[in-house]
Amino acid sequence: MNFSKLPLTQAMLTNLDALGYAKMTAVQSAALPYILQGRDVMAEAKTGSGKTAAFGIGLLHNLDVKKFRVQSLVLCPTRELADQVAKELRRLARFQHNIKILMLTGGESFGKQLGSLAHQAHIIVGTPGRILKHLNKESLDLSNLNTLVLDEADRMLDMGFIEEIESLLAFVPKERQTLLFSATYDEEVKKVAHTLLREAAVVKMTAEEKPNVIDELFYETQDKTATLVNVLALKKPKNVIIFTNTKLQAKELAEELVGRKIDALAIHGDLEQYERNDVLVQFSNGSTPILVATDVAARGLDIKELAMVVNYDLPHTKETYTHRIGRTGRAGMQGEAVTLYTTDELEKITEYKDQSKRIFSDADSLEDAQAFTMKPEFVTLVIEGGKKDKLRAGDILGALTGDAGLAGKSIGKIDIYERQAYVAIQTQESKKALSYLKNGKIKKKKFSVWVL
Ligand code: AMP
Repeated sequence: MNFSKLPLTQAMLTNLDALGYAKMTAVQSAALPYILQGRDVMAEAKTGSGKTAAFGIGLLHNLDVKKFRVQSLVLCPTRELADQVAKELRRLARFQHNIKILMLTGGESFGKQLGSLAHQAHIIVGTPGRILKHLNKESLDLSNLNTLVLDEADRMLDMGFIEEIESLLAFVPKERQTLLFSATYDEEVKKVAHTLLREAAVVKMTAEEKPNVIDELFYETQDKTATLVNVLALKKPKNVIIFTNTKLQAKELAEELVGRKIDALAIHGDLEQYERNDVLVQFSNGSTPILVATDVAARGLDIKELAMVVNYDLPHTKETYTHRIGRTGRAGMQGEAVTLYTTDELEKITEYKDQSKRIFSDADSLEDAQAFTMKPEFVTLVIEGGKKDKLRAGDILGALTGDAGLAGKSIGKIDIYERQAYVAIQTQESKKALSYLKNGKIKKKKFSVWVL
């Protein structure tokens, strides 16, 4: 289970050690030997299993840094996942200078990407549509590609990306290593997978991986919102993702909850990229306890500690059910998965009765708690300055705990982007923090600051 058992360079091993990766995770020890041998791999691995490092270490090991051509391509279903993958790859690549990793996703300026591509890159991480656009415009050349990775392959192959991926394959050498990572492989995905792979090693995670610890509760109800409120009052979860099947419903449910003084935000496909980002930042830093989402909008979203998932609408397939609830109960924490269904949906629910651990109850068994309210622990302040201004988390933390006199524990997550930084501040201290940041300085500079 030690990385040192693998034929990796000392520099890579030292960096893994510095990252605190003492031992391989289950998927890493199962897949890395094949990956390093150059074999194709079809791996079953969930988010949180260390899968990014599993393929990342492989890509970096095979990379010829002196050859300034794209040698690896990682395809992801969403921008958020691409962003997480690129970040993890950059951390893994720290052992060697000059490794260039470029992210190409939709929703970003095409022109800017053209500029970056003109300077070449070793590894590209991106979403299929945008990559195909670059290939068609000949701004991206994949003729030197050695390794192709499909991350969350099931999501990719069932999200209607398959045509794009097939077109994209025409630009990629047939002689290559292909790595597929996916939480599940249903028959349809397996069929497509086999057209991409050659003599692939199949890596399955069974007993070794820590299973999610999830209580699965099902409630029959005629009023889903009322039951939802009763469940929230009973369980008092710290943070919740509620799934609906349509964008409109996500929006309406979030509005209804806010009307009942239960703080919530919706995330769905109609949001602009910056709005999406604002919502995700607020949910991940505790400035809103509830996120109402559609499946597509929630893809790639990785919240490490999620207390509860609610299926407000029944998922269309059982794979989607598994995906949705798999976001909670990670890393040994107890998670709750609550599914609401009406009498009209009784037939659909029978297929969930195949596991005895699932508990089915009537919503009337819940105590009535319609006056229940939920307020966030934190408020997000936006600072009009980011990486571009060389602003770091330590600078903001220093300004707030030093001159402004806030206690360290009243400051939550700090996210720094190119032009903006987001700081979570405990609600009761937020006015003080805002007033200080507005009037005072960070790193001897004045920045505009506002409440998100
Ligand atoms: P992933 O499944 O790729 O989303 O990774 C989940 C998390 O595990 C990431 O935050 C990684 O940085 C971390 N991680 C990956 N490999 C290891 C390891 N061998 N030891 C400890 N942490 C790891």
